[in-house]
Amino acid sequence: MSMLSLRSHVPDDVIAAADSLPGQADVVVIGGGIIGAAAAFHLAGAGLSTVLLEADKVSSQQSGRNWGFVRTQYRDPLELPLAVEALALWPELERELDAPIGWRRTGCVFVAATQKEMAAFAGWHESTRNIACDARLLSARETVDLLPSLRGKTEGALYTASDGQAEPALATLAFAQAAARLGVRIIEDCGALAIEIAGGVVNGVETEHGRIRCNTVVCAAGAQSHRLLMPLGLTLPQQSVRSTVSLTAPLPPLSEACFCGFGIGLRQRADGSCIIAADSTSDIDLSLDSLRAARFFLPGLLRHGSGFSLRLGRAFIDDLHERLAVPDRERTVARRPRIPTNSKLAARTGATVRNLFAGATGIEIVKSWAGRIDVLPDALPVLDAPSGIGGLIVATGFSGHGFGLAPAVGRHVARLAKGEAPAAILEPLRLDRFARGTYSAPHAPL
Ligand SMILES: Cc1cc2nc3c(=O)[nH]c(=O)nc-3n(C[C@H](O)[C@H](O)[C@H](O)COP(=O)(O)OP(=O)(O)OC[C@H]3O[C@@H](n4cnc5c(N)ncnc54)[C@H](O)[C@@H]3O)c2cc1C
Repeated sequence: MSMLSLRSHVPDDVIAAADSLPGQADVVVIGGGIIGAAAAFHLAGAGLSTVLLEADKVSSQQSGRNWGFVRTQYRDPLELPLAVEALALWPELERELDAPIGWRRTGCVFVAATQKEMAAFAGWHESTRNIACDARLLSARETVDLLPSLRGKTEGALYTASDGQAEPALATLAFAQAAARLGVRIIEDCGALAIEIAGGVVNGVETEHGRIRCNTVVCAAGAQSHRLLMPLGLTLPQQSVRSTVSLTAPLPPLSEACFCGFGIGLRQRADGSCIIAADSTSDIDLSLDSLRAARFFLPGLLRHGSGFSLRLGRAFIDDLHERLAVPDRERTVARRPRIPTNSKLAARTGATVRNLFAGATGIEIVKSWAGRIDVLPDALPVLDAPSGIGGLIVATGFSGHGFGLAPAVGRHVARLAKGEAPAAILEPLRLDRFARGTYSAPHAPL
């Protein structure tokens, strides 16, 4: 997948060169994915001078590589209120950010191939009755009516008409550009090495190009967040799961709704091309970090582990090499080579789509790429201002859900930065659930 850089989209002068690193800011946001960019936009909107640091390019990691589903459907009931809040914000984003982001309210459908899957959907539907979302169960007949191109035999489906989709890199860049227009200094190729604390409060960030004094830091460094938090004595058991995605050439209508079922996920874009991926098969590249976090993940792996392939290979060797060759303080920005795709899985996914939809006989895969999903043991994010370190805000571990959630997350981060009490819906997303051992196994596979 081609990397989109902010440089190609905005005049050069909104990207600060590393040699003009500001000495001071109200807030430093670490991480230029959609979470950091949305946070920076709302922080600047709240009148706080903000610097956004990105070790690579804005949108170069998960935020520019994801499927683009914006869904409330089948979310963990503990995360659902945040997802509902975020969904309500998406339709206004193009106007608010003044940029195209490809938002379309196309719905989302999860098709059940077995009675067991249908029972799981029904159980979720029942357990979320009190939360205002419009998910409904479809009979097998209704599922065929919704998806006339579908060939597979179904037991029914879970369908949410109000869910939608957007273009990942466009939406992330739109947040970053809008933040820049509000005065946020966005500094690419500049990793944060350490969050500095004095007397129990944040007082700066050490970066690869110098130090920035600040009283508030937002840690939104995706899969690297645990490396920034660990030296502060904070427990964030994080695992990276590698997922391969493909883009097809335009196809006849297959599914207007974002689709999951029969082991694949599919999003048909406005031009008919499809984003496709295996929805229940991912690779876990074992590393020293993943082994350290293993005990936290065991309950979830035992419950839903069938979709993961554990791989001991290149990532482990890279990790070992890094441990020996890279000083500890630089490991927070360790740059990894290209993320390898699982080409066998990509080919299998293409074949499944061809067999599953009448309109997909001529499917042609244009390109494939992979992304590393940062997962926490309960598959819920952390969105919290942990007590004990004044001025630290953590927004990370979005476990495959952060694209859709970002518009709401940015607003909550800005409120926390202004010193407001956390909203009640953030209670299950506290960081200390891991140190206390009060988290549960994920409600569903990723
Ligand atoms: C294949 C795939 C499919 C997905 N599908 C969906 C979906 O359909 N819907 C959905 O809602 N979510 C989906 N997700 C999840 C979603 O993409 C993520 O949850 C979301 O993008 C997380 O955003 P982020 O900003 O936290 O992380 P990222 O986008 O990973 O951004 C973190 C950034 O921090 C930077 N960084 C790291 N360390 C440092 C440092 N020390 N200093 C400075 N910068 C640093 C990184 O370079 C990176 O750019 C998917 C993810 C993947 C990979």
